[in-house]
Amino acid sequence: LGGHPKPSNAPLKPTGIKTVIGVASGKGGVGKSTVSSNLAVALAKKGRKVGLLDADIYGPSQPRMMGTNTRPASPDGKTIQPITAHGVTLMSIGLMLDPDKAVVWRGPMLMGALQQMMGQVAWGELDALIIDLPPGTGDIQLTLCQKGGIDAAIVVSTPQDVALLDAKKAIDMFQMLKTPILGLIENMSFFTCPDCGHEAHIFGHGGVQHEAERLGLPLLAALPIDLDTRLAGDAGTPVAAGDSPMAQAYAKLAQGLID
Ligand code: ADP
Repeated sequence: LGGHPKPSNAPLKPTGIKTVIGVASGKGGVGKSTVSSNLAVALAKKGRKVGLLDADIYGPSQPRMMGTNTRPASPDGKTIQPITAHGVTLMSIGLMLDPDKAVVWRGPMLMGALQQMMGQVAWGELDALIIDLPPGTGDIQLTLCQKGGIDAAIVVSTPQDVALLDAKKAIDMFQMLKTPILGLIENMSFFTCPDCGHEAHIFGHGGVQHEAERLGLPLLAALPIDLDTRLAGDAGTPVAAGDSPMAQAYAKLAQGLID
């Protein structure tokens, strides 16, 4: 990923990958990266060959969430060998750059890096590539959709109005670009008190479901605020790798996509 890559017009989807699913959100902090890593791990646990591409170039979190900082090798100077973590083939710009330095790139550099991460990474044969997209409706999403880099999208939102407002824009973008949307995921949907079992709707209630119904899209999951999910993400062992109720929720989500 060195040098100054030049954008090209070649189709972005690597040969050998059956389905590319983009995980999107309107704004940051709603759990898009958490859902991406856990979905990838849950699909891998079901015996699927899965890749995870961290395309959140300005804020890559997958090295942390998948628990690796191994720099991918490039023995021939052209092909990049991805890393394997928790049974998932992983590539992130965060593995190539100094984690403490900001990525200060203009569009063409960004596009070049995206093309390299899709085209020069030795992804091999995969049933599914999950792409953790940057939040919003910027260049990366636009290019991936317009250049055949994504087969379908999943949109993650919390029930909070400000998140939902932006999620609607992401949905609108995919619809404009004619990228099929598999469905919506409501993350941080509710919090169950560990002491008394009371369910608190900290970020509001029902917003994502209502939006899914309005658009005729499936609500793929409503995932609670869960301490283990946060701890596991920070520790680099996605919660889906274990066998907790959250792991089962991700297994169910993965199975729903397989079916
Ligand atoms: P995004 O990719 O949308 O910016 P992240 O996946 O990085 O969001 O999540 C933001 C923070 O919220 C992370 O610290 C993550 O561990 C935490 N988080 C995400 N989903 C949940 C959840 N369901 N319960 C608890 N914490 C969560």
